[in-house]
Amino acid sequence: MSTVAELWALQTTDLAVEAARQRLTELEKQLGESAELQAARAATSEAQAELAQRRAAQQQVDQQVRSMTAQVRAAERDLLSGRVRNPRELEGMEANVAALHRRREGLEAEALALMLEIESWEAEVAARESQQADAVAAHAARQEAIKREAGQHLAQLKALTPRFNQQWEAISPPDRDLYKNLRSRKGGRALAREQRGACQACGLMLSTGAAQAVRNGSQRVFCPGCGRLLLAG
Ligand SMILES: [Zn+2]
Repeated sequence: MSTVAELWALQTTDLAVEAARQRLTELEKQLGESAELQAARAATSEAQAELAQRRAAQQQVDQQVRSMTAQVRAAERDLLSGRVRNPRELEGMEANVAALHRRREGLEAEALALMLEIESWEAEVAARESQQADAVAAHAARQEAIKREAGQHLAQLKALTPRFNQQWEAISPPDRDLYKNLRSRKGGRALAREQRGACQACGLMLSTGAAQAVRNGSQRVFCPGCGRLLLAG
């Protein structure tokens, strides 16, 4: 039969292995793109799309302004050429030139409004790109920290696993079964410490006789409250 202290040492290693594994699983989940970074990228693309849309509209309007300018010049040249002398026809041509001027002014106003919008979106894109760069840097630092911590836990596991195996081998087969059984039923903790007559896992006060038996090791005592094997604290 193994001693309670040997089983306690086994449990200590077992719990450390469990904790390291759990932390590694958590860290693994934290690797990869963060929601924050994804949101920053999306915000930048959105602003870039808005800007691109306005730049395309600006090109179109600029093209229309150039074409309208050419039409105004042609109509003005025609008017001044002296080709037409009929006053009513001349009046019509003048009205046409005036209308072309108004259309060009309208297009120029549109071009100016677009230019202002473009300036404001350019500033927005620059601000969002800078926020994204910050998010990328913060993310990279977090990933680095996660990898560093994972490395520490892996090193711990590497040291703990042979220790656990060695401790396990030293335990008698019936006690291995006892440990496994209690461990699975008692939330991973098969043993509990007894301190000042009380079980440290569930808080139950032991009878004087039971507390004494735990301390002098005359027999194994299981806590009547939680059922764990007790080790004198
Ligand atoms: Zn207990």
